[in-house]
Parts: sequence; structure tokens; C-alpha cells
Amino acid sequence: MPDSPGAEFWRHLKPIEDSRRPDALPEVHLAQAATDDDRYYVPFTETVGSRPLWINVKDNSWADILRAKEAGLVNRHYHPHEVFAYTISGKWGYLERPWTAQAGDFVYESPGEGHTLVAYNSGEPMKVFFIVKGPLIWLDENGRPDGCFDVHDYLALCRSHYDAVGIGADRVDALLR
Ligand code: FE
Repeated sequence: MPDSPGAEFWRHLKPIEDSRRPDALPEVHLAQAATDDDRYYVPFTETVGSRPLWINVKDNSWADILRAKEAGLVNRHYHPHEVFAYTISGKWGYLERPWTAQAGDFVYESPGEGHTLVAYNSGEPMKVFFIVKGPLIWLDENGRPDGCFDVHDYLALCRSHYDAVGIGADRVDALLR
């Protein structure tokens, strides 16, 4: 139930009845998505963690909060599909691009981009809301494919971590849509 309104002008409006079609899946609502609770961040690299928010196997996609408490690195990789990012806090960028993102910055990455994600020591954690259309193709020093990471790897990583920290893998499965 949403909070009861006070004097808001819309307070007498009636909610839509049967607002969800019979085959529609329920929404996801996660409070404090960009929490500081370490348990929710699945180690993605040695320095960067990912809190899963939404996972879609059919489209090989996921949404997450990517966090680095201080300097962080997601080593070079290639995206055959698009990526959206909104910066909540901290400073980050790609070695290959001419900008540094900070709180409030939006980034769209077109399909066909390779990059190396770095988080700066900025006095606050890097927290970025990402929508990733997988997979990530890892690249070696010469820019050649060197393995991949897709939604299936992400699911396995998240389930394993959530089990290990006591949150439970079923909390990951609850994000599947
Ligand atoms: Fe990337």
C-alpha cells in the first residue's frame, strides 16, 4: 500500500481496478537500491560489486547498482549491445572516453563499444545504476576476445553470493522478469 495522501490534489483519485493484465508479472520494488549494506553487493571484480535489481534471461539483460568503495576497475571488455548508466555518487569513467561521470550524470553506450571502467578515489563510493544488455566480451591486451560474461554467469554469481552471505538465492530469483 502506498502512503495515504495528505492534502495532495490527487487524493480523491481512484486506483485502476484490475490494473495488471492476467499474464503480466508483478513489478519489482526494492527500497534503498543503492544501499551501503555490503552483503547486497556481489563481487564482480576484486574492487567492484554489483547489486542486482532486475534480471531478464530472455533478453540477456540486467539492471544493477555498480559500486566501488574507492578506486575500482572492471577490465577491458566489449558490448555487442547497449548499456545505460545513471550516476548516483562518486566519480567514474572509461579509459577510452573523454569524460568523467559524477553524481547526476547519464551515460548511454551504443552497441559495439569496448571500454575499461575505472572508479576514482573521490571521497565517496562510486554508485551507478546500470542497465546492461549482455553479454560482456572480455578483451585481452590486444583487444581480442578472451571470454564472456552474460546473464547466466550473472545469475550464478548472484545466487552463490546471496547464499554465502545469508540473504538467500531465492532473493535473486525474485528479481527475474
Ligand atoms: Fe561495460
